[in-house]
Amino acid sequence: METKISTNEELVHRKIAESGDEGISQQELARKLGISTRELATTVKKLINKKMIIKKAVKENGKPVIKLFAVRRIEEQQIYVNLGSIEDIPCFTCKLLFKCDNGAHVTPSSCTKLSNWILSSVA
Ligand code: SF4
Repeated sequence: METKISTNEELVHRKIAESGDEGISQQELARKLGISTRELATTVKKLINKKMIIKKAVKENGKPVIKLFAVRRIEEQQIYVNLGSIEDIPCFTCKLLFKCDNGAHVTPSSCTKLSNWILSSVA
């Protein structure tokens, strides 16, 4: 399903995204954009249906407030993976890597290099 968004939706989405993790209330957003909350409600509903934003109740000064948050797509997120614990695994530099397989002549289940690495890693 193709999801096209209008310029108006793009503008509203950008403003919501700019509010980041704090989110923004619909009233505040309408004020910033210089449009009525009624006019904004239609666009907000469309963006919610397109799963580009969510409405969430948060507490501010002890009071519940409904705020809008932009949904981050996976490709926009930066995921850091620490490979420090596996960077010295012997298979990465093994000359037999492409011959090694379960059931083959060279197999991980009988490899002393791999076994030693595993034992040294858990010790
Ligand atoms: S399991 Fe052993 S033989 Fe197989 S790729 Fe890893 S280090 Fe090489």
